[in-house]
Amino acid sequence: MSNLTFGAGIWHFATYVDRYATDGYGEPRSILDAIELAGQVDDLSVVDLNYPFFGGDFSNEQVKNALEAQRLRAIGITPEIYTRVFAKGAFTNPDPGVRRLAHDLITEAADVVRYFGADYVKLWPGQDGWDYPFQVDHKKLWQLSLDGLGQLASENPDLKFVVEYKPREPRVHMAFDSVSRTLLGLEKIGLPNIGILLDFGHALFGGESPADSAQLAIDYGRLFGMDVNDNLRSWDDDMIAGTVHPTELMEFFYVLRRNNWEGVWQLDQFPFREDSVDAANLAIEFLKRVDAALDRLDVDALVEAQDRQDAVAANRLVQQALYG
Ligand code: FE
Ligand code: FE
Repeated sequence: MSNLTFGAGIWHFATYVDRYATDGYGEPRSILDAIELAGQVDDLSVVDLNYPFFGGDFSNEQVKNALEAQRLRAIGITPEIYTRVFAKGAFTNPDPGVRRLAHDLITEAADVVRYFGADYVKLWPGQDGWDYPFQVDHKKLWQLSLDGLGQLASENPDLKFVVEYKPREPRVHMAFDSVSRTLLGLEKIGLPNIGILLDFGHALFGGESPADSAQLAIDYGRLFGMDVNDNLRSWDDDMIAGTVHPTELMEFFYVLRRNNWEGVWQLDQFPFREDSVDAANLAIEFLKRVDAALDRLDVDALVEAQDRQDAVAANRLVQQALYG
């Protein structure tokens, strides 16, 4: 059994709206309410916090006290560079004033990371992209993405920045859409303090094999964080980890273990209709099962099977480990 730390995006414990239930699937919760719920999960140690804090005008100190009361630690701060004001992008907004706003918000978030002693500023440039053919100049848009990110990383060399890529939503096409394109961008910027936060579900949704995405990011020294969830592969459904793609989840964690990758196993789930504490517990129970299965897995035999590309032998070993 490895020494695992489990975490979650604090939004896991919020309530949500969509374009149908515009009044929400539950009463709105503040970040303090969400932290209290996160504290009820059996084995959760860290959380990723949206910034500004939602549901009220809370100080860093109030949030810190709430975390301490639940024995939780902040792993990352996620500046909300994807809200209405950034509808046409944060780094890539056509309005330089809005780009400046994004820069300032992320700079503020960097200070919040320092305050909490968190590991990184988490950037999810969900509005940076395009919707229609001919809507953008692709050269300019990509350059703005790299310039915005590179500037922040060089202004804050004491901190880590992680970019979470995703194929689409809310933009029809996101600029940081895949592991390979994100790596290309990060390598072009060439700074050591920017990495990838690999979301298992985004890789699935993007038609990637998450295990391969993880290996590639690790090979370039850029896998700074990860989160897990599940989906039906045609959308970022953010369902409970392990419910749909257990074998691929197992392969993902196998690759992390083979590379001695040490980091938090984080949940990025949106339990719209489920009890959020129960949904987190189920995911963590499954992640522990995966970890125990990795302990049982006959790795030598698997390596040998892979050397022959013997899919049947490999999957027999995995199934024996996972299902007994
Ligand atoms: Fe995520
Ligand atoms: Fe997502």
